[in-house]
This record gives sequence, structure tokens and C-alpha cells, in this order.
Amino acid sequence: MSYFTHLECSKCGKRFEADRLQTVCDACGKPLFARYDLEAVSEAVSKDDLVGREATMWRYWELLPVKERRNVVSLGEGWTPLTHVRRLGAEIGVPDLWVKDEGIIPTGTFKARGLSMAVSKAKELGVNRLALPSAGNAAGAMTAYGARAGMESYVFMPVDVPKVNAVECQAVGAKVVLVRGLISDCGKIVSQGVEEMGWFPLSTLKEPYRVEGKKTMGLEVAEQMDWELPDVIIYPTGGGTGIIGMWKAFDEMEELGWIGSDRPRMVSVQAEGCAPLPKAFEEGKDESEFWEGAETIAAGLRVPHALGDFLILNAVRESGGTALAVSDEEIMDNVGMLARNEGLFACPEGAATLAGLRRMIADGQVDADERVVLFNTGTGLKYTDLFEVNAPIIDPDEEIDFRGLLGSS
Ligand SMILES: *Cc1c(COP(=O)(O)O)cnc(C)c1O
Ligand SMILES: [Zn+2]
Repeated sequence: MSYFTHLECSKCGKRFEADRLQTVCDACGKPLFARYDLEAVSEAVSKDDLVGREATMWRYWELLPVKERRNVVSLGEGWTPLTHVRRLGAEIGVPDLWVKDEGIIPTGTFKARGLSMAVSKAKELGVNRLALPSAGNAAGAMTAYGARAGMESYVFMPVDVPKVNAVECQAVGAKVVLVRGLISDCGKIVSQGVEEMGWFPLSTLKEPYRVEGKKTMGLEVAEQMDWELPDVIIYPTGGGTGIIGMWKAFDEMEELGWIGSDRPRMVSVQAEGCAPLPKAFEEGKDESEFWEGAETIAAGLRVPHALGDFLILNAVRESGGTALAVSDEEIMDNVGMLARNEGLFACPEGAATLAGLRRMIADGQVDADERVVLFNTGTGLKYTDLFEVNAPIIDPDEEIDFRGLLGSS
């Protein structure tokens, strides 16, 4: 069973009921966190009880907010591989390097975790119409789980969104509207339609359960590393649900006695063209400012202002980590680096973590004997429009000079 008890504001601590639809705190406007009866959980389950459970994020049932199994809307998300990337690690001078590979998850990105959880909980609370302003992967995940739940989904996207993101929503039967404007314009449109259309919007951190899905990444890293957290975790940050969720998971696991009080240094990587968090980190601020003119090929990082910025900055600082920005050129170089060395075709956001790590190594911020986990948050296969095919073209009946054609000796 689930030991979910209530919701609590992550900023002011105000308490909210668990059994009703909630959005953000009505006192301060900040995100709400799900709280659990951890004492009861620690009596009911041990780490060993997890062995052999289903290979999805739902293995952590007691620490998740869905009360009844029949409300779970799942496509098999989670329990993704944590891969030791030996060749790449040796090449860059950190041999104990690992990639948590979210590229193989349903819908192709880890947005599936958050939206499987949020759609399941929405179903439990009687929602049947979902809505989302999205510039990308969240829409694909929401609409897929919406379809599986038998709900209607409505998505408003900027008109210049990559084709794949509009197509995947349409494929599962969602209503897609393209907006000549920015993601913030799409957000305003969704709010306008909420009352008339009876929508429940699933925007990042504006509903409390996506973060509970992302939290399972922290649980999985701990369990997959035999309950020894790594020295450093590098995470590509947009709205920051992943970093916020993992940080929350670490606290819950400590309270359960599953891990000690040591924490990995949490590193938040953003793109130079949209870097509100590194800026706030460097300036010693607790909150970030809106980033004007946000631009990067890593669409998941194109978030000019994160509602949970104070939570991200807190995790980064408390853990002794850092926040840094990398260029789009570095990102693309590192997509190639990861792919050629390990056969792992990462999304640009995932490659940004490798770019960040290489900068930290160059600056002496990571030691050669440290254990580092990079988060690859999605598959490169969703981003093929960033690449060109660079191959010679031949006719089947022409005489072929193989060595000349292939540039090999
Ligand atoms: C949304 C997204 C991110 C950013 O995730 P947050 O947890 O919201 O910071 C990173 N990578 C990809 C591929 C994404 O779609
Ligand atoms: Zn509050």
C-alpha cells in the first residue's frame, strides 16, 4: 500500500489534503510536496524487500502517492540501466563514470516518469481532461499516458516545436494547437481555457505529482549502486523536477535508514543560451531571474524561469555542488563523444552533462578516483533534425573503389 498522508508547501510548510485535486500553495504560490508516514514505511518494508519487485518505477509503491493499484497508468517506465561507461571514463580521466540512461523509457524521455505518476494520480482523483503548454517532450509523455488512461488531452505548443513532438501527440489522439508565440504564451492560453473546458493542467511543479515520478530516479540510483550514493550527480536542468525529486528521495531514504547522511554533490547543467540557475548560483542568490531570449538546441533546458528554482539552488548548495552552463557546440560535440565511445546516442540535454563534467575536470572540481553519475534524460532519436546525413551516395551498378569511397586503408 501507499503511505501517502498529505501535501505540504515546499516553501511555507502549509498543509493540504491528499484526497483532493491540488495545484500550488494558495498562501505563497510555491510547489507542494507529497508527504508520507515514513515511520510506518520503515516498519513495513526493508531494502531487501525490494529485491525481485517489478522492473519499473512502481517498485517503490509505498513511497508513491497513488493509493489504489487499479489507478496506475503505466507503459513500463523506470528501472532504466545504470551503465558503467568504462571507455569514455578512461578517455576523460574519470574511470568510475556511469550513465543513468533514460533514453530507453516509453516516449523516449524521462518525462514519462513524471507524467505516468501525474496522470495516474489525476485518474484517481476523477480527472478526465488533461491540458499542457509544452515545447516538447512533456507533451508526448502526457498524451501517451492520457490515451492509455482513456482521457482527453489538449496540448498548446509553439509553432516552431520540433516535428516529432507534435506528431507523437497527434499519433495518440491528442488535440494539438500550434501557437505563434513562446511557451509562456501557451501557458497563458491553457490557464484561460481551464474553467470553460474543464481541464486539469499538468504543468511542471504546478501539480504535485510529476516530481514524485522523477523522485524514483534517486531511489533507483541508490538501489542500483547497492545503497551507496555516488560522489557526484550531474543533471541537465530545465524546470528542475528531476534534481528536486532526487533530493527529496535522498531525504526520505535517510529517514527510512536506507542510506546515511552523505549526499552526492549535485551539479545542475544548463545551456549558455538559457542559464538562469548558474547565474543565480554565481551571484549567491536564492532565486533566479527570468532569462530573456532563451535559446538552445537542448529544448528541455529552454526554461527561462523555474518555479522550483529555490529548491534546485538549495540542493546544489547544500550538497557542495555547482551550477554551470555549456555551449550548444560543446553539447553537440559530446553527443558524438558519448555515441562513438559507448554506442549510446544521447539527447542534447544528456550530452550537456558530459560537457559539464569535462569542464569540471579541467577546473579540478572532480578527482580522478570519484564516482560520477551523468543523467541522459532521453534518446537522441527524438532529435534527428539536429543532424545531417553525411554519407557518399553511389549507384548499385557502378564500379566501386571501396578504399577511396570509405576513406580507409
Ligand atoms: C524536460 C527535459 C529536461 C529537464 O528536466 P527537468 O527535470 O524539468 O529539469 C532534460 N532533458 C530532457 C530530454 C527533457 O525533456
Ligand atoms: Zn506556501
